Amino acid sequence: MSEHHHGHEDDHGHHHHDNHFTDMEARVKALETVLTEKGLIDPAAIDAIVETYETKVGPRNGARVVARAWSDADFADWLKRDATAAIASLGFTGRQGEHMRAVFNTPDTHNLIVCTLCSCYPWAVLGLPPVWYKAPPYRSRAVIDPRGVLAEFGLELPEAKQIRVWDSTAELRYIVVPERPGGTEGLGEEALADLVTRDSMIGTGLALSPEAAR
Ligand code: FE
Repeated sequence: MSEHHHGHEDDHGHHHHDNHFTDMEARVKALETVLTEKGLIDPAAIDAIVETYETKVGPRNGARVVARAWSDADFADWLKRDATAAIASLGFTGRQGEHMRAVFNTPDTHNLIVCTLCSCYPWAVLGLPPVWYKAPPYRSRAVIDPRGVLAEFGLELPEAKQIRVWDSTAELRYIVVPERPGGTEGLGEEALADLVTRDSMIGTGLALSPEAAR
């Protein structure tokens, strides 16, 4: 099991997931079924809560990191050199041994994050990974055909723009710093953070324009 797991350490529980998660998922499903049958929960409500954590609560930390980088050139430099420390300075820390690297989108280069072998994800800044991030189609195709994958997310990049794909591991996880949208010169960090979507920090989307965020 561990041989095909790019040298992941044993203390990263989610890397034993092939069996572990299947078992966990079966138990969760069983609990959900019993509770639903007893009328104690509404599966739609559970989905809504999970969705909220995936898209809103968790990624707010990362959005604050990006907004700070957009607002403060010194912080952006620090984030480039030592993302683990720069991110920790805002109070967001991962488990021991988990290092962060921030990759910055530029007019020439778009960055995309994947974990080809499992589901390594920057939990401290993005919260729960979306289901598609953990799914084999994304994990395999993000490397082979990143442009095609991005198109399926509705993101059509100019042919001239290079796409760099970063393969996460348990030891090193990535966050994309999207390009700062135009028309945001007067905005403070809080307002800027509202433009930073989860997908823009994975690379499957861009930051929102102020108009789109309204
Ligand atoms: Fe992984």
